Amino acid sequence: MTALLAVEELDVRHGLLQAVRQVSLELAEGETLALVGANGAGKTTLLRAIAGAHRPAGGRIVFEGSDITSRQAHRRAKLGIALVPEGRRLFPDLTVEENLRVAGAARRSGPWTVAEVVRAFPLLEPLLHKRAASLSGGEQQATAIGRALMTNPRVLLLDEVSLGLAPIVVDGVYRSLTRLIEGGATILLVEQDLARAMRVADRVACMLEGRVVLEGARGELTREQVTEAYFGLRRREATA
Ligand code: ATP
Repeated sequence: MTALLAVEELDVRHGLLQAVRQVSLELAEGETLALVGANGAGKTTLLRAIAGAHRPAGGRIVFEGSDITSRQAHRRAKLGIALVPEGRRLFPDLTVEENLRVAGAARRSGPWTVAEVVRAFPLLEPLLHKRAASLSGGEQQATAIGRALMTNPRVLLLDEVSLGLAPIVVDGVYRSLTRLIEGGATILLVEQDLARAMRVADRVACMLEGRVVLEGARGELTREQVTEAYFGLRRREATA
């Protein structure tokens, strides 16, 4: 299976701090990969580097066989790489519908319309004419994912969709995500909640201090293995 997106030996720095170290990952079309790891493990930095928001110090990002490492973010969006950033970043004074339509500038041709987004996230239907600033966290998250879908992405990069949301609201967002996944979407998902990540993803990769320390198909990994990798327990045992 050829990868739609491949990250090869990627290094990303914030000044002197190396946040991503020699990370290699592949994502096949139609696959969902969950990236888990503790705060500061480098997940957001990796996602931003893939989207073109942060230039890597080394390594390559390959999309559909082409090296896109030095392409600008808007060109990656045109290719079909859509990032839903941590904290949603909607336009607060625009309505939900306007926020969705704003994505039109970077739009590729494809099936996503405002009506399709509402079908995927029914909670948005009565909110289309409300200002984004007046929405709850869950409603904002649905709008942010909907806005990314409006670009007709080939790959959705989702950064911590659960952040700051009540568990019941997260359940609703994940119900919609599960339908997207079943519909064949290709998703790279950052998720702090291991149980949730292991329920929805085909594969799970765990980052620790900038490196991918464990990766495998959902069925191959036990919760215990992922937990150990998440907290770096193995490594500590090995170096003790
Ligand atoms: P979180 O779950 O907290 O978002 P994360 O796994 O996404 O964690 P990153 O946000 O990528 O991790 O952070 C990786 C490392 O890079 C951390 O040590 C963090 O403090 C540092 N870092 C992140 N952004 C910046 C920045 N803009 N400037 C300097 N250091 C940064």
